[in-house]
Amino acid sequence: MKLQLIGTGSITAPQTSASSLIDDRILIDCGTGVTKELLKRKVRIFDIEVILITHLHGDHFFDLPYLILLRSFNEVTDSLKIYGPKNLKESVEALFAIGFADLENIEQFFIKGNTSIIEFDNLKVKMGDYNLESVLVDHGKTKPSYGYIVEKDGKRISFSGDSCYCQAIEDLVLNSSVAVLECGFPNNSRDHMGPETIEELSAKGRIITTHMSLDTREKLQKMNLENVKVGADGDIFYIY
Ligand SMILES: [Zn+2]
Repeated sequence: MKLQLIGTGSITAPQTSASSLIDDRILIDCGTGVTKELLKRKVRIFDIEVILITHLHGDHFFDLPYLILLRSFNEVTDSLKIYGPKNLKESVEALFAIGFADLENIEQFFIKGNTSIIEFDNLKVKMGDYNLESVLVDHGKTKPSYGYIVEKDGKRISFSGDSCYCQAIEDLVLNSSVAVLECGFPNNSRDHMGPETIEELSAKGRIITTHMSLDTREKLQKMNLENVKVGADGDIFYIY
C-alpha cells in the first residue's frame, strides 16, 4: 500500500490538519485545509472512494463541505462514501447552513456528486481487496472517537485519530505493519499522546507521528527514536 501524509499538524501548527491517503483511494480525516492540500499535491480527488472520519472536531472534518461541493459541481459519477461517527451528517449540514447559507436543498449536492455519509457505531467493511475497521480510542470527553485499520494482502496500516494512551492504541501498534499516531502536545494529557508515550510504544512496533504542534515536532526530532518517523506533510511510504 502507498501511504501519503497529506497533513501532519495540530490546530496550532503551520502544517495542514492531520490527514492521510492510502493508494489515492482511502482518505483518513478531512479537516481544515485538507482539500486545498490535496489539490496542491495534484491528488486526483475524485478518485477517492472512501473517507474515514475519526471524530467530530473541526480539524478532522471541516473540509467535507468543500469536497462535497466540488464533486457536485463536477457531477462526479463514481461514488464517495464518507464513514464517521453518529451526528456526522447533521454536523456537515450545519457547516453548510453556516458557510453557504444561500444554498438551498443541501441534499442535492450529495446526490449530484454521488456522495453519501454513513454513520456507524462499529465499522467493519470490505472495499475490494481492502478491509476497513474502526476501533474505539480515548480522546477525553470527545466520544466516540475512532482509530482505523486499513488492511490489504496481510499488511495493516492503522491510524490513532486523536487519543491519549489506551489499550486500543497499544494493540494498533502491536498488530500493524505501521501505526500512524497522533502526538498532539509536548506532554501527555487526558486527550492526547505526548512524545514519552510514543517512545514507550515504539518498543512495540513501527510508528509514524502526525497531528503535531511545532514544539512536539521539535521534541520528537531531538529524541530521534528508533522505529519512529516524524511525519512531514507530503511524505510518502510504501508498505509491502
Ligand atoms: Zn480532536
